This record gives sequence, structure tokens and C-alpha cells, in this order.
Amino acid sequence: MEMGSFDISVFLSFVSRLFSRVVLCLVLCFFLKDVQFVFAFQWFPMDQLLLNKGKALLVRTETVKIANSVLVQRIQQFSLTLIGRLMNPAIQRMDSLVVNLPMIWKIEDKVVGADLGQGLFQFNFDADEDLQSVLQNGPYHFDGWMISLVKWEPIISSTYPSAINFWVKVTGIPMHLWEVATLRAIGRKVGTICEIYEESGRFCVSVNGFNPLLFKLVVPFDTGDEIIVSLEYEKLMGFCEHCFRLTHEMKGCPELLKGSGDQVMENQSDKRGGLR
Ligand SMILES: [Zn+2]
Repeated sequence: MEMGSFDISVFLSFVSRLFSRVVLCLVLCFFLKDVQFVFAFQWFPMDQLLLNKGKALLVRTETVKIANSVLVQRIQQFSLTLIGRLMNPAIQRMDSLVVNLPMIWKIEDKVVGADLGQGLFQFNFDADEDLQSVLQNGPYHFDGWMISLVKWEPIISSTYPSAINFWVKVTGIPMHLWEVATLRAIGRKVGTICEIYEESGRFCVSVNGFNPLLFKLVVPFDTGDEIIVSLEYEKLMGFCEHCFRLTHEMKGCPELLKGSGDQVMENQSDKRGGLR
């Protein structure tokens, strides 16, 4: 009898501990909103699981040491390389781009293109003058959508490259307010200014290709006056007419897909009538 009652208390204690553990796991599961992690908690560090929630397991390797001399050599090796990104990879054909862009540039025997995967590509040039000429004549589009194309730099970022240099023409500035300062204020709102041509009301600006393009701006002056200017992007091809991004057609716009049919129609008419 003594042995029996002792066993029951041990058993109850075990059940109690098990129950509290299960409750803890369920509570954590509720906050993480993913049942599969309940079973994984015992085996993997918490931060690793949170980083990779709902995806394949993310495992860290040992630290890799690369000598400075090797890094310098690599940077020199890619000094004649342009790196690019398809802004709408769902439509743009990478194979065709890698073959056809050198022909469009008329330097097919002096440049070698390669698909880097994930919508990225590179072109290795024989001569710096060809590379500079290609950069000067941008921006470029392919299959009706823009590409980002920049001189390669040792940058680690999932959004690199995304810069697109546009020439932008401004209209709507009254004659007496037609100053470099006005164009500069507008250009700074659009991106990073490369050049300003006051006489023609144009500026070159580097924009982040993942951000919505600005087509209208309100420019206030210290006199208390305000003007509304319109922007025209030269060589622009393909953008969503709802959110003004370069990455998708309007029918696939994530903002529209979020809403219901009725809301979608309302948003469209609002956006078209409003300022950007
Ligand atoms: Zn959109």
C-alpha cells in the first residue's frame, strides 16, 4: 500500500509537470501563431526559430575568414562589372535580357552577361569607356519594365541594386519662381540629385526602384505661396497605376489585392484624383 501511494504521488507530480509544460508550450504557440514550433522548442534555440518563422530551418555556419588581400583583389576584379536587377521579374525574361542588352548597346563582342539568380544579373566589360557609355545612356527597360543597372560595389543587401537614374522634367513652375533652388527642392524629394539643368527645368536623380514614383509635388515658398508641379520621367516604362511602383502591374498590386472589390474601386478613384 505504501509503495502504491508513493507511486501515485510521483505519477501525479509527473503529470502536473507535464501539464504545466504543455500549457506553457500552447501559450507560446498562441503568440507565435504556428503550431509546429511547439515540438521544436526543445531542440532549437528560440532566436533561431523566431528569425525563421514558418520557413525552412536557418542554420549558421562557422565564421569564415577572408584575407584583406583577397577582398582587394576581388574588388579590382569586378571594377569593370555592372550589376543589375529586373524590377518586374514576373514578366521580364532574364535569358533574353542577358543576350539582347549587349546587342542593343552594340558591344556584344566586348561584354559578357550572366544571370545571378533571384532577378539579378551582371555584365563584365572589356573596356571602362564602354561601361561608362552604357551608364550614361540609361536608364533602361526590358520587356516593358525598368531594370536597375549600377556599377558593382561590395554591398551586402537583399535590395541591392535598386537605384535607377532618371532624367526628370518639371512642369508647373511659374516664371518668377524658376530657380535652381526650386528644382533642387523638388529633386531632393524624389531621390539623390546627380545634375540639374536649370534652363530646361530638368534634373537627373537616382531613385530607389522599390519606392513609389512621385508624379506631383507641392512646393511651398517662404513668401507663403505654394505651387503644384508635375514630374515627367524620361525613358520610364512600366509602373503600377495604383501605387506607382515599378515592380508589378496594377492587376497584381498588393494594395488592391488586400481590399474587397468595392473598396478597390474607391481607392482607384481617390488615388487618381489625389496628389502624390
Ligand atoms: Zn501597385
